[in-house]
Amino acid sequence: MGVTKLRSPSPHAYLVPADASFRLKKAVSDPGKKAPDDEECERRLAACVAEIDKLQQVLYAHDRYALLLIFQAMDAAGKDGTIRAVLSGVNPAGCHVTSFKTPSAEELDHDFLWRTTRHLPERGRIGVFNRSYYEEVLVVRVHPEFLAAQRLPNGKNGKGIWEGRYESIREHEQHLARNGTVILKFFLNVSRDEQRKRFLSRLNDAEKHWKFSENDVAERAHWDKYQQAYEEALNETSRPWAPWYAIPADNKDYMRLNVAEIVRDTLKSLDLEYPRPDKADMARFDEMRALLEHDK
Ligand code: ATP
Ligand code: MG
Repeated sequence: MGVTKLRSPSPHAYLVPADASFRLKKAVSDPGKKAPDDEECERRLAACVAEIDKLQQVLYAHDRYALLLIFQAMDAAGKDGTIRAVLSGVNPAGCHVTSFKTPSAEELDHDFLWRTTRHLPERGRIGVFNRSYYEEVLVVRVHPEFLAAQRLPNGKNGKGIWEGRYESIREHEQHLARNGTVILKFFLNVSRDEQRKRFLSRLNDAEKHWKFSENDVAERAHWDKYQQAYEEALNETSRPWAPWYAIPADNKDYMRLNVAEIVRDTLKSLDLEYPRPDKADMARFDEMRALLEHDK
C-alpha cells in the first residue's frame, strides 16, 4: 500500500514539491504587489482563524486525526508572531505549542527524535512545534561541532550522518501520518536584508530590546550555509503526507494569512464530521429524554 494514498496536499503556490526541485534562491521572500494590502490580509486572517476554531472542534469530536504544525526559520522571520496570529482564536484546550531550544543534558542522552515525540499532539488536537527535530539537520549541520555532545557511536550504520537523519525523519513522519497525525511544515522565508532591518529595529526600539540577541548576529554570518542546509532539508523531506511550504516572510500580514489558509484548507480536506448516532443510540436518547422530562 503506497503511503502516498494517505493524503496529497492541494496544489499551492508555496508548496515545496516532493521531486527535489526546490531552489531557495528562486523562492519568494517578498511577495511585493502580489500581496493584498495589510487591511485585507488582516480581515481575511480573522475570518480564517474563526474557521480554524470551528474545524478544531469537529477535529476533536471526529477523534481520528491530530494536526502537527512545524515551524522553522532564520531568526526574526516571525515564527512566534505567526503562531500567535494563527492560533489566537482557537480553543486553548484544543492546541498546544512547544518551543525547542538548545537541547538539555537529558535530551542529549536520547536519540534526536525523543524530545519532540513526547510533545506530539493527541488525536483531536493541534500541536505546534516552534523549531523541531529539523534543527538536527540545520543548526547542527552548520555547526557540526555540536555533534560531539551527542556522543553518537562510530559507524553510523554505513550511512552519512545527514543522509541517515533525513531517512529517520522521513520514516518518522510517514509513521505518524499512517497513524492519523496530519503534518504541515512551514519554512518562513525571510530575506537577508529584511532580517538586518528587523535586528536593527530590535536595537532601536526600547520595547524590542529584550528580543535582541548577540548570538543571532553571529548566526547571521553563516547565512549561506543555513540557506544550503534549508534547501537540502526541504527537498529531502517534503512529501505528500508531510509537505513543506516555503512562505514569503518579508511581509508579515501576508505570511500569517498564507499559513492560516493552508491550515484551514488542510483541516477542511479531511472531511471531518461530528459522529452520527446510530439507531440504537437514537432509541437510547428517546429513553433518556423521557426520563429527564419526567424528573421534576
Ligand atoms: P526567539 O529568538 O524568537 O525567542 P528562538 O526559537 O530563536 O526564539 P532562542 O532561544 O533564541 O529561541 O534560540 C534557540 C536556539 O536553540 C536556536 O539558535 C536554535 O538553533 C538552537 N537549537 C534548537 N534545537 C537545537 C539542537 N537540536 N541542537 C542545537 N541547537 C539547537
Ligand atoms: Mg532566537
